[in-house]
Amino acid sequence: MKSFSSRIIDWQRKHGRHDLPWQGSSGPYLVWLSEIMLQQTQVATVIPYFQRFIERFPDVTTLAAASEDSVLEHWSGLGYYSRARNLHAAAQQIASRHEGKIPDTLDALQALPGIGRSTAAAIAALAFGRTEAILDGNVKRVLVRHAAIDGWPDEKKVEAALWQLAESRLPQQNIAAYTQGMMDLGATVCTRSSPACDACPVQVDCQARLQDRCASLPVPRPKKILPDKHVQMLLLLDRGELLLEKRPPSGIWGGLWSLPELPADIDAMDGCRMRYGHNPHARQALPALRHSFTHFRLHIQPVCLHLEPRVPSVASPGQQWLTPAAALKSALPVPVRTLIHQFV
Ligand code: SF4
Repeated sequence: MKSFSSRIIDWQRKHGRHDLPWQGSSGPYLVWLSEIMLQQTQVATVIPYFQRFIERFPDVTTLAAASEDSVLEHWSGLGYYSRARNLHAAAQQIASRHEGKIPDTLDALQALPGIGRSTAAAIAALAFGRTEAILDGNVKRVLVRHAAIDGWPDEKKVEAALWQLAESRLPQQNIAAYTQGMMDLGATVCTRSSPACDACPVQVDCQARLQDRCASLPVPRPKKILPDKHVQMLLLLDRGELLLEKRPPSGIWGGLWSLPELPADIDAMDGCRMRYGHNPHARQALPALRHSFTHFRLHIQPVCLHLEPRVPSVASPGQQWLTPAAALKSALPVPVRTLIHQFV
């Protein structure tokens, strides 16, 4: 029987993906950008964002010179905005420390913001042909099933074993086809809920398949109960414009434009007067929303307040008044976008 890596490479050449916009001779910038966008996001979702992004930021130098607001705006809707902030910071480091050239070694890549071990290895392998092992979610699933590895794959000990396994299976040559093949196999054949084992190039010695454990591997994350947090979000309306506030640069939704928030137990009209100095004359409650983060659930009670015309009409620093349609062009968190959509 051919080696594991040879079977993956042969399969990738015949059945893998070859026409993604960052494949071919697109160069390390596009490979890097795609790897960052593909974290926690599927290919079909990424493609239109990727194309819009490279139209505006075609190379590292343009990205490094752009404002953070403009980068976030072009990321808006993809979520996980720390990826965009790190991408921008990394571009600035590449411009200042690497003469605008994306470094080609694992260590130098990993030293850049937002590039972990697997992403660095993917860039090194796909863009520079270096023999490095990747271990993203898709690859973990393939390896876990093929070797029937027990334990939650993100647990330290299990992950360390998976890195070893990933390294032991690397081919001597054709690293780019192998790396792409592992990603493609995980995304299109060895899928989470219904793997198409009959179409799999490594089915003959796949332990999960032989032991009839495909459905139970990988072992799921141990369940934890997420704490709940409750807030009110204010839609302050004055002459057809809404007030937006810029979030602090770090933390949840860092650097994005959001709606003013109040603790859940404060009367919204009083809070609006005290905290924002605006006088509401009418209120309208809107249906509540829930948004889940990895470490807590946010319950949002939106309240629309119609204001007496404000004086002065200019916004304070870190705030802006925009029509709902103009607000939707800004970098907004997903639930804020949903709320503002109701006013367009
Ligand atoms: Fe995944 Fe099935 Fe292939 Fe095993 S045989 S690696 S479970 S697709």
